[in-house]
Amino acid sequence: MSQVNPSGGPARSASRTLSASAVAIAYHARTGPLGSSAMNKSPLWLPYSQMQTAPDPLLVARTDGVRVYLEDGRVLIDGIASWWTACHGYNHPHIRAAVAAQLERMPHVMLGGLAHAPALTLARRLAELLPRGLEHVFFTESGSVAVEVAMKIALQFRFNRGERSRTRFVAFEHAYHGDTFAAMSVCDPEEGMHRLFDRALAHQLILPLPVDPERTERLERAVAAHARELTAVIVEPLVQAAGGMKFHSPDTLASIASIARRHDLLLILDEIATGFGRTGTMFACEQAGIVPDVITLSKALTGGTLPLAATVAASHVYDAFLGSDPALALMHGPTFAGNPLACEAANASLDLFAREPRLAQARAIGAQLRDGLEPCRGLPGVRDVRVLGAIGVVQLDRSPRLDALRRRFVDHGVWIRPFGDVVYLMPPLVIAPGDLGALLAAIPRVLEEARAANDL
Ligand code: PMP
Repeated sequence: MSQVNPSGGPARSASRTLSASAVAIAYHARTGPLGSSAMNKSPLWLPYSQMQTAPDPLLVARTDGVRVYLEDGRVLIDGIASWWTACHGYNHPHIRAAVAAQLERMPHVMLGGLAHAPALTLARRLAELLPRGLEHVFFTESGSVAVEVAMKIALQFRFNRGERSRTRFVAFEHAYHGDTFAAMSVCDPEEGMHRLFDRALAHQLILPLPVDPERTERLERAVAAHARELTAVIVEPLVQAAGGMKFHSPDTLASIASIARRHDLLLILDEIATGFGRTGTMFACEQAGIVPDVITLSKALTGGTLPLAATVAASHVYDAFLGSDPALALMHGPTFAGNPLACEAANASLDLFAREPRLAQARAIGAQLRDGLEPCRGLPGVRDVRVLGAIGVVQLDRSPRLDALRRRFVDHGVWIRPFGDVVYLMPPLVIAPGDLGALLAAIPRVLEEARAANDL
């Protein structure tokens, strides 16, 4: 049961005074009652879920700040910011106002033959914000599609230059880049969730990250041996997130970049999880002092408000798509590319990064995570405790009974959702120390309880 006072969150606007039950009643009027068995007859097919056995999802009435308000009246402090998106907390008034104003003007218009200020402004701002040289911004609607576009750009870059045999990618063990088909081919083939599709995926060169001289040498040799068939290296800088919250050093990242350069491979950095302050700098690649040829962004791009992603290329890549031949053009164009509502949410999110101390907040969260997770280190069943930026990870000896563990966190009034063998925190960057303290306190308690119940 939650120990959190439902009214404890910061009140930001008049409409927030709507009670959870008022929202629920309005919702029920349209949809019928949502009880705990709402999923039984629902046609809703949930992501990553065995629909026959998965526990019912918790029904959420509303969100506010760092809190998730359930239909049944319970309130959870959010430790993972809705898959790492809600960097300013939920329902930030500045973002809501920007989206509401845009909704009045124009919810959507196609980007084919037409353009609009929200997309033009956002593209310019991203180009200014990103490491120098990343200047050409292509919008899509999800991280996976941004990765697809990055891979398509890397392939067509070669084709447009007559290098037709350079069709393969270098990627890394424990990588995760998305659930669409090209993206799946550069995920970890063994430990990732896409092993089933192995025979249907392009075969890429998947190697261990070069975290020591021996592995660096191995990467260098493999790349040299296959250079004529390779087009690009793709890596999540500093944090392999969905592949197990594994960290690597800026030196490792820099050595990947230098191997790519030496062998004339493009470097694609997937900053979908790490971008926008999560690692303590605006973009993780800044810590290694490197600039990729292509970067992918999503998740916190709109402050978690609306779906939007961007693939941003350097000029020397973009230039390969220019010419009098229409066939040189990038043949991609999602219907909702550059949706104005999403672009305005992103523009408002960038305003907040500019005027509020998000990076300092990320670093302060890191310091608190470091102290607060320390008690977990000695616990039985815990293999490792690590912190990078505003990411805190407790890695277990083995994968626990996840459903049981997740339920226990909810019982403690927190939304922490372990996966694989990790329990982790990636809270909104605006979380107050007291709320973060509540998240931190729940972890050792839940681990102790789970061990006593044989769930670990
Ligand atoms: N790349 C990385 C690094 C990610 O963490 C994710 C999502 N977890 C993706 C790509 C895919 O993004 P999406 O779920 O929006 O398709």
